[in-house]
Amino acid sequence: MAWRATALTLYPEMFPGPLGLSLSGRALAAGTWSLEARNIRDHGIGTHRLVDDSPAGGGAGMVMRADVVAAAIDAATRAEDRRPRLLMSPRGTSLTQERVRALALGPGVFIVCGRFEGVDERVIEARNLEEISIGDYVLSGGEIAAMVLIDACVRLLPGVMGAEESGAEESFEDGLLEYPQYTRPQDFEGRTIPDVLTSGHHAKIAEWRRAQSERLTQTRRPDLLASRPAGQDRTK
Ligand code: SAH
Repeated sequence: MAWRATALTLYPEMFPGPLGLSLSGRALAAGTWSLEARNIRDHGIGTHRLVDDSPAGGGAGMVMRADVVAAAIDAATRAEDRRPRLLMSPRGTSLTQERVRALALGPGVFIVCGRFEGVDERVIEARNLEEISIGDYVLSGGEIAAMVLIDACVRLLPGVMGAEESGAEESFEDGLLEYPQYTRPQDFEGRTIPDVLTSGHHAKIAEWRRAQSERLTQTRRPDLLASRPAGQDRTK
């Protein structure tokens, strides 16, 4: 069964957007995964299909109504749907490569995209939505965040990346950032490719890459080293 992504959104026309191109687009066309974008406004109230209202307690902006979002969720899910129900939210758990890998191994994702000031807290509770953040900054809506999550998952689906694009040695895959990459020309404005990489000595190349990964991680993201499982830490 293909990996399935559903996005509940006020802007279904944003999808597939960039997901329809390149790696993810080819995989979508090939049926490796499927995407359904459903309009929350179809469940809006009255002839104006209202989906939001002013925040209880006052303050700026609008809040997406719990009843409207719940109706959209209920119409889009079936009892046997095992996919995690996510809400894109700056308050959520930070998305990591580890979580992406776990999501890619599962049946897919069901994602609610917020707009305005976000969604009424009661629907988050009542429909058991798990809040996921893509980083410590605020976007204007959950759609781009959902696309980030979906893109990261889809490229890991079997067959999506060829052997040449394999994700095995990438940043975060073993708790380290990726080593520097080079390609032709051999001399670029007087900067040459490190000798070891053109030596053909595979063990030396692997050792060099490992050392570079550790050096980069140490200087740029020491937090990654600190949080690695003890057995993985070969820097000591
Ligand atoms: N008032 C909210 C921000 C609302 S932004 C707050 O202060 O927390 C509007 C919508 O954009 C959110 O409901 C969410 O779906 C999405 N969004 C914004 N930033 C995001 C982020 N960093 N990660 C995931 N989704 C985000």
